[in-house]
Amino acid sequence: MTNTGFTLHSRHRHAIVIGAGLAGATTARAMAERGWQVTVFDPQGIASGASGNLAGVVYSTPSPHLTPQNRFYQASYRHALAWLYRHGFPASHSDGQLNGVIQHFVDDKQQQKLTAAMDSGAWPSDVLRPAKGVNAVELVGGGYLRPDRWCHHMLDHPEITLCRYTVASLHEGSPASVQLSNGNQMSADAVIVCAAGASQQLPGLAWLPLKHIRGQVSYCQATETSQQWQQAQCHGGYLTPALGGLHCVGATFTLHDSHPSPTDADDAENLAQLKYYLPDAWQTLGGNAIVIKDRRVAFRCQSLDFVPICGPLPVATDNPHRIATGLYLNVAHGSRGITGTPLCADLLADLITGEPLPVDSQLVDALDPSRFILRKRKKQPEWKP
Ligand SMILES: Cc1cc2nc3c(=O)[nH]c(=O)nc-3n(C[C@H](O)[C@H](O)[C@H](O)COP(=O)(O)OP(=O)(O)OC[C@H]3O[C@@H](n4cnc5c(N)ncnc54)[C@H](O)[C@@H]3O)c2cc1C
Repeated sequence: MTNTGFTLHSRHRHAIVIGAGLAGATTARAMAERGWQVTVFDPQGIASGASGNLAGVVYSTPSPHLTPQNRFYQASYRHALAWLYRHGFPASHSDGQLNGVIQHFVDDKQQQKLTAAMDSGAWPSDVLRPAKGVNAVELVGGGYLRPDRWCHHMLDHPEITLCRYTVASLHEGSPASVQLSNGNQMSADAVIVCAAGASQQLPGLAWLPLKHIRGQVSYCQATETSQQWQQAQCHGGYLTPALGGLHCVGATFTLHDSHPSPTDADDAENLAQLKYYLPDAWQTLGGNAIVIKDRRVAFRCQSLDFVPICGPLPVATDNPHRIATGLYLNVAHGSRGITGTPLCADLLADLITGEPLPVDSQLVDALDPSRFILRKRKKQPEWKP
């Protein structure tokens, strides 16, 4: 190529991300790392929704069956660990540790499933192995972390700007645009909805097949002995090592309950579950005298088939394959948002920028928002979103 003496600048591309939880923060980061300018809208600031618990477990659900759902759980687990290592997070024990997760067997069925997962070869021993000294398996490389700090870490990038406004509506096009609740508009080359369950409130998105699952975590005061615990433990719920003198004991899982305030009954349920599955830990924390210093309620957003919804937004036409120009979704991370969001962020960013995708076409289809429309159309050919 002849050097003309001119420098060619490609126009700085701009993305709007709606929501500053784990999905929005990782998506914004993935776009910024591809050289895009990113505006993130969230009226509540960073990690105010489900991503704002004191601690979350970095884990997965091993299974011997290589369904698209299980393949997503596995691929996203490795991908999340790669992101965390690349970003040096957690940098100190006050943000968490990636030192393995102990998954206790809650019943024979789960024991058989996890053992079969190890035997299948689909979960090699650098990811899943028998835990030492207990009837459990260890998810190697996983751990626990402060999701709010992980979100802050992701959003701390010179190309990312956070604006505390509510997005009221989306408009497809080149460029696409959003209207804010204060009436202002902003356009961008791509608009990505990462607003979890609240996405359904945006005009045109009420059809999204999302379940809202209430969860309460109890923050229990550490004792001298419990301060020494190093690894997160999962049973029916979970118990994390102390962060700032508090253990996260969780979490309740209630469908059809939109009550936003914590309840004593839910704390009692969390402690009863801990006592049932991990009686020694329950005793070490104080048994019947466990001190609950704080608690928090948030809502998980789950899709009907348990796989996140990530890809171009389909629109209401007779053609189920018609997508809205410039509009994308990254929602429904269920109970594994720490694990699932980095892979979805990279998938979307590569789809938008035309780079090679990080997953195969089976997983792209398994995550594609239009899958629900295609399934529904099979049963009711006239159905439109
Ligand atoms: C009790 C409980 C325990 C959990 N434990 C774990 C765990 O141990 N490990 C794990 O991996 N996952 C866990 N999860 C799941 C995890 O927290 C979620 O999967 C994850 O936080 C989802 O992230 P998100 O960004 O999709 O949603 P959210 O964090 O809810 O973020 C959505 C954001 O969108 C914003 N928003 C909504 N509407 C608009 C709008 N119109 N305009 C602008 N912004 C908007 C909201 O203010 C919010 O900040 C748990 C969840 C709960 C509830």
